[in-house]
Amino acid sequence: MFFEQGPIRPPSEAESLLLRFTRNCPWNRCDFCGTYKGETFSRRTLEEIKRDIDNVCLIAEKIRERSWQMGYGGEINRQVLSDLYQSGSHLVIHVAAWLYRGGKTVFIQDANSLIMKTRELAEALRYLKERLPSVERITSYARSQTLARKDPRELEELREAGLNRIHVGMESGSDAVLKYMNKGATAREHIEGGRKVVEAGISLCEYVLLGLGGRLWPEEHYLETARVLNRINPDFIRMRTLAVIEETPLGEKRARGEFTEQTEDEIVAGERLLIENLDGINSQVVSDHMLNLLEEVRGRLPEDKEFMISVIDRYLSLPGRERLNFRLGKRWGLYRGLADLNDPPRHARVEAMVRRLEEEGRLDGTISSLRASMI
Ligand code: SF4
Repeated sequence: MFFEQGPIRPPSEAESLLLRFTRNCPWNRCDFCGTYKGETFSRRTLEEIKRDIDNVCLIAEKIRERSWQMGYGGEINRQVLSDLYQSGSHLVIHVAAWLYRGGKTVFIQDANSLIMKTRELAEALRYLKERLPSVERITSYARSQTLARKDPRELEELREAGLNRIHVGMESGSDAVLKYMNKGATAREHIEGGRKVVEAGISLCEYVLLGLGGRLWPEEHYLETARVLNRINPDFIRMRTLAVIEETPLGEKRARGEFTEQTEDEIVAGERLLIENLDGINSQVVSDHMLNLLEEVRGRLPEDKEFMISVIDRYLSLPGRERLNFRLGKRWGLYRGLADLNDPPRHARVEAMVRRLEEEGRLDGTISSLRASMI
């Protein structure tokens, strides 16, 4: 009773059942991405996908049987879960935890399921909904270039088959940045692909990578990203912050001195520029990754725009020593938001650590390695 799973999912899909329809990334050339490096893309057949779905059903049946044996009448509760944690395989625990949360959401892996033939993907989605009727939301990653090539009717067919949401790694709206990072998509394709998703009535999440322009495109990255987002008007804009991984082409460019990262303060100022220039859209801005320095920059556009800018301004107007204290405290895990600076014991603890690391000449290196550990 095996079914295949890939390595990653968006943070917002933490409660979803993960099912793999294709393996790895068909592009796999973005300079900053190490997720699928060394792996080869492959398609899975419809038969393999259906067999996986059948196996999820069999596992779910076994879990319910266990619940009956334990006297809970098929209900998947904490007791059943903890029993399975003692003896179940990783997949059994995954399905049990999913059932415990209602069995409502599914995330289709890996990096670009929309590359499947629309007819096959739609059939797989219909089969999934038929076999697992509790499912209310099915989501997937997709590349803008793939979406831009789809006929609008294909996206409508996928929505009708059950695909409710698409996550797109837009990263930047600047053609210069996209080209330099070998993203394999242009600003025009981001707009075209994104608009098609919105017009097909599928919920759209666009992921933005703060800092991706580095010192080469310190303003253009943010201004062009805002311009492209304004054209798309996605349901969600999800913020991520660049963390350069050494063993990637971008890590090599940095090592050769060709790419210099922005400082955290420069990235925050860039985030301000981006938000300031988001106009005429009603997207939800989400900051759901620990790498983002200011996680409280979140809200609905346009009504929360001033609030988001005020959070950034509060940080940028702090004295330099306080910003340093916050950055270390945040990366150290002692702070979550700016309000935590007002907690004297925590503030004093971080300040003592700042002083110690300064004396030892390890302050910048420590903050960098704490950030790297959050990737
Ligand atoms: S398309 Fe996505 S998964 Fe593929 S290499 Fe680029 S960032 Fe990585």
